[in-house]
Amino acid sequence: MNYVRLRNAVSVLNNELHRSMNIILFGPPGAGKGTQAEKLSSHFNIPHLSTGNIFRENIKNETALGKKVKSILDSGQLVPDETVVELVADELDKDAYKDGVVLDGFPRTVQQAEALDSYLEKKNDRVNAFVTLDVPEEELVNRILSRGEGRSDDTPAKVKTRLNVYREETEPVLNYYQEKGAVKAIDGVGSIDEIFDRIIASLY
Ligand code: ADP
Repeated sequence: MNYVRLRNAVSVLNNELHRSMNIILFGPPGAGKGTQAEKLSSHFNIPHLSTGNIFRENIKNETALGKKVKSILDSGQLVPDETVVELVADELDKDAYKDGVVLDGFPRTVQQAEALDSYLEKKNDRVNAFVTLDVPEEELVNRILSRGEGRSDDTPAKVKTRLNVYREETEPVLNYYQEKGAVKAIDGVGSIDEIFDRIIASLY
């Protein structure tokens, strides 16, 4: 075997051995996805990608994307799939995500989940774990209304809209992954560290 062929074989083998870690954190608004995603991101040393944070950052900086999505976020409805899918694909293409990602707030519709699957398939990659945080609705509303982050969508009426949108458009994503068998359902009530320990235990 000449040198070039050997080098190609090594590179193929490296790709086979390279295991990235793609985790989806799922759950209704107020379930604590952002908090746990941050902790998972430091634990596994892979970046946290929050579509909600990216949109809020763009709105704050008054970018073209920010101007496009501001009224949608303010209303508590979802940004169109096309826009979100393009944003996430562009982000995941970056070298920073070569070892994987903790996704928070995406996928939020079945179409987004299908788009993510085909994106990962093309890269010979997959979703390793789909972690869903279970929190009773009453607690969700209390948490959101008392967190005081000053978000324009954290008012009682907007929270109601977001919960309805979650039930109608986002919850079907759970069934989608349940059929694939990757779902870890975690009790999302307790201290931040207790919940984190439950998530970690479910991943091993
Ligand atoms: P929460 O889970 O508390 O509702 P997020 O920060 O995840 O908050 O999302 C805030 C808002 O950003 C959503 O209500 C929606 O308008 C928009 N958004 C975030 N992620 C998506 C997504 N994947 N698809 C469509 N809209 C999204």
